[in-house]
Amino acid sequence: MTVLVWAEHNGISLKKSTRQTISAAQAWNEPVHVLVVGHQVSAVAQDAATLAGVAEVIQVDAPHLAHVLAEDLAACLVEIGKDYQVILANHAPYARNALARAAALLDVGMVSDVIHIEAPAIYTHPVFAGSILETVVNTDAIQILTVRGSAFSETAPAPVAHKITERNAPKPQGLSRWIREDVHASDRPELTSARVVVAGGRALGEQFNTLLQPLAGKLGAAIGASRSAVDAGLAANDIQVGQTGIVIAPDLYIAIGISGAIQHVAGIKDSKVIVAINNDPDAPIFQIADYGLVGDLFTLVPELVAGITGATSH
Ligand SMILES: Cc1cc2nc3c(=O)[nH]c(=O)nc-3n(C[C@H](O)[C@H](O)[C@H](O)COP(=O)(O)OP(=O)(O)OC[C@H]3O[C@@H](n4cnc5c(N)ncnc54)[C@H](O)[C@@H]3O)c2cc1C
Repeated sequence: MTVLVWAEHNGISLKKSTRQTISAAQAWNEPVHVLVVGHQVSAVAQDAATLAGVAEVIQVDAPHLAHVLAEDLAACLVEIGKDYQVILANHAPYARNALARAAALLDVGMVSDVIHIEAPAIYTHPVFAGSILETVVNTDAIQILTVRGSAFSETAPAPVAHKITERNAPKPQGLSRWIREDVHASDRPELTSARVVVAGGRALGEQFNTLLQPLAGKLGAAIGASRSAVDAGLAANDIQVGQTGIVIAPDLYIAIGISGAIQHVAGIKDSKVIVAINNDPDAPIFQIADYGLVGDLFTLVPELVAGITGATSH
């Protein structure tokens, strides 16, 4: 029995979430293979080959995989994954999209957002926006799952590099087409791996960035946003935190002008310390906050910035 992990990467190196997924894959006590899909991704394959807990790296490299589309990635997962008993990936949008397709093509089910692997095929995962934790037994012959990276530790570097095997890519599916990518360049730490996150809600209005940037700068923090802030055009879609955005678990999460709707809380409740600033003392965010400041954010945030001396590292 062998376990296959689909690697999330940026074309140069693996994302932290992949190291966490490899760690989750150790639950089977079986050889773990890492699948690196893309174009000119040998550096990524090398990166994966030097991680503990990896038995082999499978590299699928082709020009049509430069911008991995869900249909093409699903085809790779089916072609290569049909020889495995377990296929898993981090619970990120790309993986959710592709693994669900692969599961359908292999005629098996998929278990999403697993936070605990009790035993092979027995998984705990949140449902109903995180208000219930469900434990399920998956009886399918091929186990397909996404795991919540932050629920697992990162695998360590390996003393020796493991084998890298190149496999041919399935032919292009031609069902969708890559048009462009809007990358929001930022000198802030990456949201998914930042130790400190400062997030704003709709209440910040046009001052979203002017208020949050100085605070994030002082704390070495990433910036996140509620869905209402994103829908209002105050923040980019890729920094939305919550059920339909990114799930994070930083050491410190500061929610500013965020009501604390269940769908938002689903994305932050594993944070170690939660601080909330809100002018409504009954705002739901205070139910999960470790520290709360009741008051006007337009006054409190600049006061906080002025009061913070020194800076933390990322
Ligand atoms: C299927 C589904 C999925 C969803 N997924 C997500 C998701 O992934 N992420 C997400 O965030 N939401 C999600 N939502 C939306 C969610 O239900 C809430 O509508 C949203 O989180 C509210 O955003 P908000 O707190 O910024 O805005 P509001 O609900 O408008 O809250 C604003 C808050 O700011 C406070 N405030 C106002 N003015 C000030 C001031 N001057 N000083 C201090 N405080 C102030 C108010 O008291 C209030 O608590 C989802 C909803 C659905 C139905």
